[in-house]
Amino acid sequence: MAETPDPPAPSDQWFFEIGDGNTYGPFPLKKLQKWAAVGNLMPTHRVRHADSSEWTIAAYVPGLELTTTVLSEASDPPQTPAQKTGKRSRGWGHKKSVAGTTSDPTDSAPPVEPPDIVALCDELLTIAFDRQASDLHLDAEENIVLVQMRVDGQLETLRKFPKNLHALLIGRFKVLANMDIAERRAPQDGQFVYLLGPDQKKVSIRAACLPTTHGERLTLRLLAVETAELTLTHLGLTKENLQLLTQFVGHRQGLILLTGPTGSGKSTTLYAALRHRLAHQPGRIITVEDPVEFDIVGVAQTEVDSTDRVQFATVLRNILRSDPDVVMIGEIRDADSMDLAIKSALTGHLVFSSLHTNSAAGVITRLIDMGIAPYQVAATLRLCVAQRLLRLLCPHCRQPRQLSPAEAEMIGQPAAAGATVYDPVGCTECRGRGYQGRTGVFELLPVDEPLARTIMRGCDENEIARQARDLPSLRQDGVHKLLAGQVSLPDLLAATAE
Ligand SMILES: [Zn+2]
Repeated sequence: MAETPDPPAPSDQWFFEIGDGNTYGPFPLKKLQKWAAVGNLMPTHRVRHADSSEWTIAAYVPGLELTTTVLSEASDPPQTPAQKTGKRSRGWGHKKSVAGTTSDPTDSAPPVEPPDIVALCDELLTIAFDRQASDLHLDAEENIVLVQMRVDGQLETLRKFPKNLHALLIGRFKVLANMDIAERRAPQDGQFVYLLGPDQKKVSIRAACLPTTHGERLTLRLLAVETAELTLTHLGLTKENLQLLTQFVGHRQGLILLTGPTGSGKSTTLYAALRHRLAHQPGRIITVEDPVEFDIVGVAQTEVDSTDRVQFATVLRNILRSDPDVVMIGEIRDADSMDLAIKSALTGHLVFSSLHTNSAAGVITRLIDMGIAPYQVAATLRLCVAQRLLRLLCPHCRQPRQLSPAEAEMIGQPAAAGATVYDPVGCTECRGRGYQGRTGVFELLPVDEPLARTIMRGCDENEIARQARDLPSLRQDGVHKLLAGQVSLPDLLAATAE
């Protein structure tokens, strides 16, 4: 290249990387702009000024920030990343007019064609959506970028890319999610809306970036659940449990707590409960969430960063002052928020929330461990709901067999030996997975008079569990679904391990 001045003019010398492991430059900005215009330098490529050791993304460099606009004019049909369409963009980085065919040979671009990152990221999202994945993970390993997706709760490897694409892939998603591209050492959150599928459905995507030893790790959560399906009858509750839950959802005041690990469907149940309440009783419903996962018409939803405890508590206080009938607090993570929840339940509100414990009985001991006085727990807590999600067997290919006596013993139902259960197989309907969709298993623990007295006395989890032993446990609820041919034995055992 013509320009290799020594020393470089401080004002106009730039290096850039396109993800092939090489650094190009120094070049004047004008050249970078030219390459950007023909699509060889992309908004996600890294650029740094010759005087600086800091790399930044091309889209953030003054003079290159319009890279995308220039590109949309240069490419046909117009296509900008801001459009966020679900269609495959074409032309990005794969232009045939790269090296050699431009009018000025000295302006020819870097020798290696950069991969089409925008199209690649679009493709990953499209596949994840198509397969109804809940999450897409980009993990930096020593030599590769591992792309996995979670379908029906199970991780599947989607792609493996060479490590040099890592920064580009992460950069592209960070741009979409409005995250700080330059920040690579601190965790970051963001979100964006992307149009996906044949109907160009608006899909909300939540992004979280976490630094690891081999580079940043990115998780994208696709919030694509149809709001129409968010009803209590769709969750997999037995008739008895459905009746019990709807009864408590109609109460005037008190605390209803859901529990289960991440991904156990707690928010879906919370939303379904709110919708049920809204449809059957007039009243004001306000939510505090992190983040708002589904929009519910008729509900005032507030989004708060729950890691910011001060802000969370302030917002919650303001909401309680505005006198709602029902408050939903997405998740309670600390004693301050729990204290507020308890107080509002004591002062005539119905409060829904969730927290992390293993069982419904564990909720009570957890509250007391958090420093809530047993009499307050007894006075406010009305219902604890533990839940897990299990994969539904594909009805087209499931294989019947008899439950062995040993297996019947394992699930605590010796009498069930010889009953018909089903194993997953895999067919074209389920794309070879053997499973299609998911269902919930539930354990409902109502806090009645005798239990409230036990709580007041101060008790341990076993004592509460003993008192609740007539109620179907998670495992027992799952056994019904196993014997009904809905779920598989290994899934049931794994999800309801005690
Ligand atoms: Zn199948």
